[in-house]
Amino acid sequence: MSQSRLASCIPIPIEHKILVSVIEKAKDWALMHGVGMRDKKNFTKDAIQIAPFVLLPSPFPRSEFEKAVELQPVLNELMHKVAHDDEFLEQTLKNALQVDEFTRGLYNIWMKVREEGIMQSLSLGLFRSDYLMHVGDGNKIKQVEFNTVAASFGALTSNLPAMYRYILRQLGHGDLIKNMPENLALSGLCAGITEAYDLFGVPGSVVLFVVEEVSYNICDQRFHEFHIAETRPDIMIYRKTLGEIYEETELNEKKQLILEGSPVAVVYYRSGYEPAQYPTPKEWDARLRVERSTAIKCPSIQYQLAGTKKVQQALAAPGALERLAGGAAPRIRDIFTGLYSLDFDDSGESAVEMALADADKFVLKPQREGGGNNLYGAAVREALLRMRRSRERAAYILMERILPPIVSGYVVRAGAPVPPPVTDLVSELGIFGVIIGTKDKIYSNKQVGHMLRTKLADADEGGVAAGLGALDSPYLLDM
Ligand code: ADP
Ligand code: MG
Repeated sequence: MSQSRLASCIPIPIEHKILVSVIEKAKDWALMHGVGMRDKKNFTKDAIQIAPFVLLPSPFPRSEFEKAVELQPVLNELMHKVAHDDEFLEQTLKNALQVDEFTRGLYNIWMKVREEGIMQSLSLGLFRSDYLMHVGDGNKIKQVEFNTVAASFGALTSNLPAMYRYILRQLGHGDLIKNMPENLALSGLCAGITEAYDLFGVPGSVVLFVVEEVSYNICDQRFHEFHIAETRPDIMIYRKTLGEIYEETELNEKKQLILEGSPVAVVYYRSGYEPAQYPTPKEWDARLRVERSTAIKCPSIQYQLAGTKKVQQALAAPGALERLAGGAAPRIRDIFTGLYSLDFDDSGESAVEMALADADKFVLKPQREGGGNNLYGAAVREALLRMRRSRERAAYILMERILPPIVSGYVVRAGAPVPPPVTDLVSELGIFGVIIGTKDKIYSNKQVGHMLRTKLADADEGGVAAGLGALDSPYLLDM
């Protein structure tokens, strides 16, 4: 199947002199409004450089964008239900747990806190559902994955509509800005944190961000802190690594997590989603301590487990959505693409056969987050041949490869020659959602904003923090 094309929002190529000048302006706009990151090669806390971005907002069909927006609360609720369905989680993860030590580490914590008695029944989810359009299906959106932990770029992308308004006006196309939706992800995500804080209801309690040893994506994280500091000056926020949490926190007799003498109301994980973030048993102990505490976790460990690839695949199996989502099942099924288990049974065997016969049509995914872990094309075949008779394969899922439409455009990167060449690009939409609730009661459930990130059409993955993708904002098309 050949990939179709969408026209860019203004004709390109842009004339050389105009292009160089607008890129210079755009870079300064980006830097001066925090569309930035730390330099990975020459790390210093004294400077940020521009985050990669596309010069022009990428086209996205309005109806598909609106569909994704409207579906977000439905998906939030679905994941909330999954997270509180102990039997479904256990059944879904049991084979993967035998071979995947990391997911087992998380699951064991979940079992332990359930046995001991759950001290905090409220969970906070700051979720993001990701989509690619699929050419073979008339440019309809298909879900790539559902992120329940450390879903990033809500803050940076909230700045982008303003940046693109500036760029389009500088290029003499101010008339087009009406087609760019406003993005209030940052304030919406922060409101989730403060609402959870208020539900915790202990005056003088604090918020804890769990962060990596080195945060390259510092602007995205800090903007949340700045926004809360401005709107809720009564709330103190701390940033700590899991290692620091091990050293600096304790549980008191009420099972409150105490940091700097104050109880922690909300723990917001921006780290803790991949094995490298738990280099020693101390980090696991820290995670267990947090989960044992009364703090409201974002995400709670059961939310994190509900966000695994294995759960995504199990939801696509016949009957699962009907049971968990009731009347909303057809709308959700519509955004799913082919998802197959690789368990040792008939359907697992036929999935292996199917992928070996045409590996380019599939992506092979382990139970990992954070980008760079999936296998594509020849590597799918190679891995399946290697794992065919090994239990290891149960920790992977097989997914149909989504083929998005291509748009020509310019990617602006720190340190890259100006002007950049015209390149073929594809875009991935993310919709942010906030949910707060217990097993029996949902207090808040909203769609709060979006992100678009764009990568070279021939790249398998496009993580912005990983240096592959570029920030973007949708330019809505009435098709
Ligand atoms: P991660 O948890 O590592 O972010 P994802 O499932 O989001 O895992 O996959 C990473 C990237 O790989 C996506 O952002 C997308 O660019 C690409 N990708 C994932 N699944 C598919 C798919 N089914 N078809 C095409 N590309 C995919
Ligand atoms: Mg992803």
